[in-house]
This record gives sequence, C-alpha cells and structure tokens, in this order.
Amino acid sequence: LEARNLTKHFPVHQFGGRQVVHAVEDISLALPEGTVTAVVGESGSGKSTLARLLTQLIKPTSGELLLDGKAVGTSAKERRDYTSHVHLVLQDPFSSLNSVHSVRYHLERPLKLHRKARRGELDELAKSLLERVALSPAETYIDKFPHELSGGQRQRIAIARGLAVQPRVLLADEPVSMLDVSIRLGVLNLLDDLRERERLAILYVTHDIASARYLADTVVVMYAGQVVESGPATQITDSPAHPYTQLLLSAAPDPSRTEAVELRGRGAPPSLVNPPSGCRFHPRCPFAMAICKEAAPPALPAAGDDQVAACWLLSPDHAPAAAADTTPS
Ligand code: SF4
Ligand code: MG
Repeated sequence: LEARNLTKHFPVHQFGGRQVVHAVEDISLALPEGTVTAVVGESGSGKSTLARLLTQLIKPTSGELLLDGKAVGTSAKERRDYTSHVHLVLQDPFSSLNSVHSVRYHLERPLKLHRKARRGELDELAKSLLERVALSPAETYIDKFPHELSGGQRQRIAIARGLAVQPRVLLADEPVSMLDVSIRLGVLNLLDDLRERERLAILYVTHDIASARYLADTVVVMYAGQVVESGPATQITDSPAHPYTQLLLSAAPDPSRTEAVELRGRGAPPSLVNPPSGCRFHPRCPFAMAICKEAAPPALPAAGDDQVAACWLLSPDHAPAAAADTTPS
C-alpha cells in the first residue's frame, strides 16, 4: 500500500467562526509487504487521522492511495475490495468487541460475510484464526465471551477477526497502549509474527518510540500533522537528525509512562487550527533560528541511508557552523 501526498483538512466551528484543522499535511509513505512501518508522534499529531485515511474510512482533502501500484478507485465495488485488503485494529480491545457475543460469533461473522464460508467449514476456519493469533488450544477460547478474556486476549481476538477477511495490510492504531505493560510485548510479537509468517504489510501507530524501535523496520515521526523525520528504525533511534525525534527519544526510557505526561517539560504540541508558521516545531525547538519561523523546512537527506528529516539544520545554507555539534553522535 502506498500513500501519495495525503492531506486532510477538517472544518470546525470555533471562536465564533469557521476554522480549518490541518490534521494531515502532504504525507507520502509506502507499506511494503512483510514489513512494519511505525508512525510515531504525540497525541494530536495526526497519526490516527493518517491511519483512518489509509482505511478510506475518511476521505482525503487531496492525495491518493495505491495498492499494488494501482490507484484505489472510489466506486462501491472498489471500496469493498479495498476494505477486504486493508484492516484497522483499534486501540481499545474492550469497545471493539460486542460483549453479548461470543468469540465464535466475532470470528464466524466475517467468515460468512466476507469469505462466503460454508456452514460446515466455519468451526474449523474460526479455530484456525485463533491458532494464528496464538490463542491455543482454540477450544479453550472459542465459546468464551469478551468479559471472560484479558485485555491482551481481547486484542488478539480483534486481530483474528481482522485476519478473517484475509487482509494484506494491517493498520494498528496504538494496539497495546491500553494493555498492561506485562502483556504488551506478547501482542507486539504477534504483529511481528504476522509480518513474517503471513507477509502482511503493517502500519504500527504509536506514541512510544521505544516500541517502534522494537517492532518496526521503518520509522516515520509525525509532528503537528507533518512528517518531520523518516528512515530505518535503528538509524532513526540511534542517530535521530530532527530535534523533535531527539526530544521524543530523550523522554522514552520509561515504558510505563503514559502519553499524557510525555514531553510535558517542553510545552504542549501546537493547535492544528492555526499551526505555527515556518517549521511547526519552532516554538518548542531548542535550536530554532530566524529562518525557522519564516519558512517550512524541506525534507533533506540526513546522515544515514534513506534517513530524511525536515529541518533547516540539515541545510548547509542555513545551519550555523556550530550546528553539527547539536546532532548527537
Ligand atoms: Fe528546530 Fe528550525 Fe529544525 Fe524546526 S527547522 S526543528 S525549528 S532547527
Ligand atoms: Mg490517536
């Protein structure tokens, strides 16, 4: 799956007038099969909106999606085909399952509706879905109800239900952030297994850059609706080029930290109604220069292969001579 120049502006009514939320601004990314791409950012960075744009649940203001190199059409049939290829896993495994229905119901329903499975094969197919998400033996789980399962087991059921439609792309929006720290790793390892065994293309949306490093091949860092840095996960986390990525990493070591307290010391992310001029990070950036307030930095090559960051410090024409010292080695 590939996104080209996706942009999403929402109208809102605020302060007595019509305003525009600049939620996602000109984002291009590719999700190749058998890889995990992490989109990392604070809450309000536009990362969930980006995931929803990739499902076609919401329409972009501009930009396009390509599956296997072909533009995704908007007719009813094309949209149906697309939804069977691209599945969204949500943050909250409690609300995504219906408490009055059993695990069996949740798995057999998409098998019937989307795969047109016959009655006689439903039981076997549903059980094999449970095995694929490591809920085994399947008999133990298939007739349970959501309240009889732990948060991690519920998230596995939500993923299994997604697998029922045989998607090629899994979009996981903060799939572990509501789970106990002790079971997060298990769900991340499941995603890694699915990437490897089933060659799924996975988008992992998270505020936690440490988990992105653990799971992802590629990391895309979002700030205020824009991509500020992208590249190979180890490169980005070992040698971040963008000051915002550096800030995220400096706040990262405690895995039990919640999103709400993150980066508090540096002020809040900006409103997307009136984003700051120039580089949107300039009000919080310790290295901001005059140009940063005036002009948005272009994406520039950074030190690593395929590492790109939108920061004037990477431009030889604008970086002060001492700027090289600000990049951690
Ligand atoms: Fe900081 Fe300027 Fe780089 Fe933005 S462009 S991150 S304000 S140095
Ligand atoms: Mg979100």
